[in-house]
Amino acid sequence: MDEVQKVSNEEEIISKIRHYYPTDSKMLEHAFLFAKNAHSAQKRDSGEPYIVHPMGVADILIDLGMDITTICAAFLHDVLEDTQVSEEKLIKEFGTEVCELVKGVTKLDKIIFKSKEEEQAENFRKMFFAMAKDVRVILIKLADRIHNLRTISPLSAERQQAIAKETLEIYAPLASRLGLSYIKCELEDLSLKVTHREIYDALVDEVNLKRAERQEMVNKIIKQLVEILNELNIAGEVSGRPKHFYSIYRKMTSQHKAFEQIYDLTALRVIVGTVSDCYEVLGKIHTYWKPVPGRFKDYIAVPKPNNYQSLHTTVMTNYGSPFEIQIRTFEMHKIAEYGVAAHWKYKESRSGQSDLDVRIGWLREVMDMQGELGSSREFLESVKVDLYSGQVFIFTPKGDVIILPEGSNPIDFAYNVHTDVGNKCVSAKINGRIVPLTTPLKTGDYVEIITSSNSKGPSRDWLKYVKTSAAKAKIRTFFKKQMKEENIKLGKDILDNDLKRRGYTAAQLFKPAWLETIMSRLSLTSIEDMYAAIGYGGINTSQVLVKLIDFYKKEQYTATKEFKTDERVHDVNNGVIVRGQKDLLIRMAKCCTPVPGDKIIGFISRGRGIVVHRTSCPNIKSMEKERLIEVEWANAESKFFANVQIIASDHSGLLAKITNVFAEQKLSIGSVNAKISKAGKAVMNLSVKVEKITDLDTLFQKLRQLDEVDEVRRITN
Ligand code: MN
Repeated sequence: MDEVQKVSNEEEIISKIRHYYPTDSKMLEHAFLFAKNAHSAQKRDSGEPYIVHPMGVADILIDLGMDITTICAAFLHDVLEDTQVSEEKLIKEFGTEVCELVKGVTKLDKIIFKSKEEEQAENFRKMFFAMAKDVRVILIKLADRIHNLRTISPLSAERQQAIAKETLEIYAPLASRLGLSYIKCELEDLSLKVTHREIYDALVDEVNLKRAERQEMVNKIIKQLVEILNELNIAGEVSGRPKHFYSIYRKMTSQHKAFEQIYDLTALRVIVGTVSDCYEVLGKIHTYWKPVPGRFKDYIAVPKPNNYQSLHTTVMTNYGSPFEIQIRTFEMHKIAEYGVAAHWKYKESRSGQSDLDVRIGWLREVMDMQGELGSSREFLESVKVDLYSGQVFIFTPKGDVIILPEGSNPIDFAYNVHTDVGNKCVSAKINGRIVPLTTPLKTGDYVEIITSSNSKGPSRDWLKYVKTSAAKAKIRTFFKKQMKEENIKLGKDILDNDLKRRGYTAAQLFKPAWLETIMSRLSLTSIEDMYAAIGYGGINTSQVLVKLIDFYKKEQYTATKEFKTDERVHDVNNGVIVRGQKDLLIRMAKCCTPVPGDKIIGFISRGRGIVVHRTSCPNIKSMEKERLIEVEWANAESKFFANVQIIASDHSGLLAKITNVFAEQKLSIGSVNAKISKAGKAVMNLSVKVEKITDLDTLFQKLRQLDEVDEVRRITN
């Protein structure tokens, strides 16, 4: 690479312009003088006239061989931001293309990078591409950064550190991505000088100290390499350049090595005409020097992501230290040094349809674009394309970059930050100004979301306006949940009311195990789901309660069996004891009318309490076994009606005789139903109130003593 002569004054830049751009020098001189005039009132921190800076930036870009549009924009890159010059004026004087480039640089200047983790740094780099729209904007910005770093010393230590850090995290990787290793190296070295001044100085000293010694060795190796080329009859160039300090520093830190342990301080390069020459030279080198195992890398067969191509090998020299040698073609070398800028740098040497244009297609690949690049015009068009089209890059108030699809609005942004921020968002500020929530966001916008704890949540209309599916999903979830909450409340009320109506309490029926059975039967996953389902009418309360009551009664029955006598709970309501039961409704069966003393059994009816039957009642046979429950008579005085049938010979005055027996026994008759049978017998059905079974026994004996009475018996309805 040619040694670069930096310009330091007006005469030098003018003569450089005239030398490199003989046909367009008028326009470039105009741009220079225009900028000088516009910035005339400004001084740099060093006290120099401000024009020194744009001049330095343009100088770097002239060395890169950039087109006149870029050089013009370089001279003018700060006028929109720092002077009274308007866009209209720029367009009038230099055309829209120059103005667009200047606007692009001005926009990038407004990005305030806050040092973050790697992912954020990558988002910033992407944003640079997205905002730049034209790769030349980035090239100007990189040159701008180099010049600022070269002249950083008047700034405060704090400013210097921030700029250096930003350079290492954003600008150097950006240059590397664009294949601009030449620019990348300078950015890294200048930054290292700021961030690690002592290490930088030590490296400079060490490198200089050993320079003579090393140079002697390097010269011998170069001589040897030239001989190899001659032997093979291959035309080529051999060069040895000191590696940049930052790469030495990185090697020392990443490999934990002292400076003395870093041998390859010089990049030795063999540049030849063809790819096959590269491999031929490599083979020959390996016959002269022993290659260090594991250090050979074939970036020709497998180029680096930025399309860097070269063969790398490290060999043991007869001087006792290893050396790295890089072998590549001239074309590869241009790309390696200048990357995307090689297009401009070497365009004069192109013969017709140069394969450089095709090669530079990597830029497209790197930037996720499709297809091959044909002409120079197409290349220029491609570098102007919005590289991240379809996306907008938005800043949070903290300076993080959030990437959203184009057309997104503050609602999308809010939901991207956090679901709660989205749900509670009431208004938004873009670049400090309150805007409607549906305002589309543009790359570079600073967005601040204003939330309120009083917010009732998102509006249904938002679903129409949001762009991101994530925001849509979160809004839908909110409504589903909110609806559910209302349904849960409603469902709970309905169930509680029905529970009360049926005479139960939640404590009695809502046992987890029972609920689980019911929920799994109804395919519900939680009690809230169950309430919600009742609330919106998916299920009715009977589907839940009937089964629960069933469970409850069975449990009570089981408990009864397990109860011991001394734990009896007496229910004297109807003179019947049901063990383990409280407050149960007990009724006597109408079919067999049990009376105290009868052997009895209870039947757990559905919702009508326990019905007590005589054990001899034929109806019991048809009843569900598990609903039968053991009951017994209490000692308490109670009266029961027993149905009694008396069959007698028809005889006048019979009824009087019979009722007399009842009266003697002090038993009252509830009802009498008498008829004459076909056989001429009197059939009387009476219901008699008795206290215990023995009352009936006595009654029956007395009745049977009457002559007219043929038969006395208990009957079942
Ligand atoms: Mn600048």
